[in-house]
Amino acid sequence: MEAKSITVVGAGTMGNGIAHVFAQYGFSVTLNDIKQEFIDRGIKTLTGNLDRQIKKGVLIEEGKKLTLSRIRKSTDLKAASAEADIIIEAATEDKKIKFDLFKTLDASCKPHTILASNTSSISITEIAAVTKRPEKVIGMHFMNPVPLMKLVEVIRGLATSNETYTTVKILAEKIEKVPVEVSDYPGFVSNRVLLPMLNEAMYCVMEGVATPESIDTVMKLGMNHPMGPLTLADFIGLDVCQSIMEVLHQGLGDPKYRPCPLLKKMVAAGHLGRKSGRGFYDYSKT
Ligand code: NAD
Repeated sequence: MEAKSITVVGAGTMGNGIAHVFAQYGFSVTLNDIKQEFIDRGIKTLTGNLDRQIKKGVLIEEGKKLTLSRIRKSTDLKAASAEADIIIEAATEDKKIKFDLFKTLDASCKPHTILASNTSSISITEIAAVTKRPEKVIGMHFMNPVPLMKLVEVIRGLATSNETYTTVKILAEKIEKVPVEVSDYPGFVSNRVLLPMLNEAMYCVMEGVATPESIDTVMKLGMNHPMGPLTLADFIGLDVCQSIMEVLHQGLGDPKYRPCPLLKKMVAAGHLGRKSGRGFYDYSKT
């Protein structure tokens, strides 16, 4: 099956980025959220990102107009999903929200429609199990910011069919992303490898091994990482880091994944990183 018409559910950080990229590559996109103001906010961000591409010289004004003209907006989930070949769900990371959405989508879309989730941590197999089409449910885990990051983890649930996998792989390649096949285990590959490293950097701070600045410098200059682990943790949000570590800890049952006590303490204090003005670094003046 060739997917031509895409519906993106959720117009937040990831959803507007996913809509942006598909529309830019010529797909017909419908962007859905629960309120018109959330869609408008998503379109505003997307338009700002298109303007940035124009400034960088990678897009012309005509390309911006065409991209925006390919995006339909709808707060009506049933209508938004009725004609789609593939629906990419990028709603809030909450099991109940996603399970409810997948039940509704399963009932309202066409029999051939593929249902993909951009979830960072919820099991694709569990999401698939609430539908009557588990063979057509798959994970499409984009990275933030979507227009810039090349990787898409393509996550196969237990029942995902080869046909669904192949359609999604080809689709990701059409928007010039690099799809990587991953099985459905907690944290997939990206968060399973990245988060324990960030957590370990936090243990180093807690145990007084080195300051956050020194740890970040070691990883930047010694390992050629573009950003130090504590700067990155602040950027992701310490609450998000904690919840991903909890998913790994509970899902894999190994104590090596326990969230660092310092991380838990900082989250409890409301020091969530960049978004709260304070994390391992102080952002109150930036
Ligand atoms: P966000 O909070 O920026 O946006 C979520 C959007 O979903 C909001 O606009 C909200 O109104 C909407 N929403 C909630 N319930 C809905 C419903 N029933 N129907 C339609 N829309 C609904 O969140 P985000 O950061 O864009 O994350 C979205 C998904 O992407 C999550 O599953 C998250 O784990 C995943 N993800 C996030 C990142 C990241 O860096 N932010 C990276 C990879 C994957």
